[in-house]
Amino acid sequence: MIKFSLLENAIDSIEYGLEYFEKAEKEKVTKYYKYAILSLFQGTELLLKELISHENIIYIFDKNSLFRNCNDPFSPKLDELYNCKSIDIKEICITIKKFYPNYFDNNSIKIIEKIAKERNKIQHFAIDINTNEIKENLTLLYGKVIKPSFEYLNDNNKSIKNIKNIFDDKIEEIFGYHKNADLEEKILRTKNINYGRGCCYNCSNYSLFVINEAQNLYKEFYCTSCPINLKEIDETKIRECPECYCNSLLYYDETFQGICLNTHCANNRDGGVLIEMYPCEVCNDYVIEGKCLCTE
Ligand SMILES: [Zn+2]
Ligand SMILES: [Zn+2]
Ligand SMILES: [Zn+2]
Repeated sequence: MIKFSLLENAIDSIEYGLEYFEKAEKEKVTKYYKYAILSLFQGTELLLKELISHENIIYIFDKNSLFRNCNDPFSPKLDELYNCKSIDIKEICITIKKFYPNYFDNNSIKIIEKIAKERNKIQHFAIDINTNEIKENLTLLYGKVIKPSFEYLNDNNKSIKNIKNIFDDKIEEIFGYHKNADLEEKILRTKNINYGRGCCYNCSNYSLFVINEAQNLYKEFYCTSCPINLKEIDETKIRECPECYCNSLLYYDETFQGICLNTHCANNRDGGVLIEMYPCEVCNDYVIEGKCLCTE
């Protein structure tokens, strides 16, 4: 019973947040952006706690607090839990990465931490609203945290109804991700530019464009939903992708991870999955998914 109300509570806050965001965009009223961030963040926090509670409800509470307030901390009573302190957002991030590594990557954690900071600023300091930045952050929060959470719940039959796409229409209405990407595609076609369209590894939208100079010769990439882009792709940083076996895996320094630029690759279709990749300390090549050619 407690689990279900947590999820409902989460959905409710996210819904509220989106409504405020839409209102903020239409009326350009600062305080609506504030409510949007607060509600969306609260909803995300609850949603992640819902996920963690599927492992065990006690994981969403602070250990010391459980021992202090419960007769049996490993099987606490509901009434005792009301007196317990729940874990903070840092702890939430560590826990979801531990339990659900297939649903959340480093970018997911980064965006949660970023918005947590914004929330603190709103709660304790002066507000300084940069609407473009808010848009960008909410795009990433939705694509990298909220959506994957719903995916987990559905994949594992943890919810009674299919909640996978409940906010997708609303999000499209507010942000117009697909509309923008479709428009971009039209322009590229008219200009006769060789391109591929796939899922963005940064925001998960189907709006990543990879421009090819020729077959397997990648020139640049950008996303029309988020600010990610690379103007000149360095060919020397490209290796074979372990998923599609094409010469399309780019080492992208900033994230210490590799991106497959082949838009037909399964990694790309599945929401832009990043591949673990970093420079090898022994040779000058790259360690890809834990293996380097020099150790084989
Ligand atoms: Zn993107
Ligand atoms: Zn690939
Ligand atoms: Zn090596």
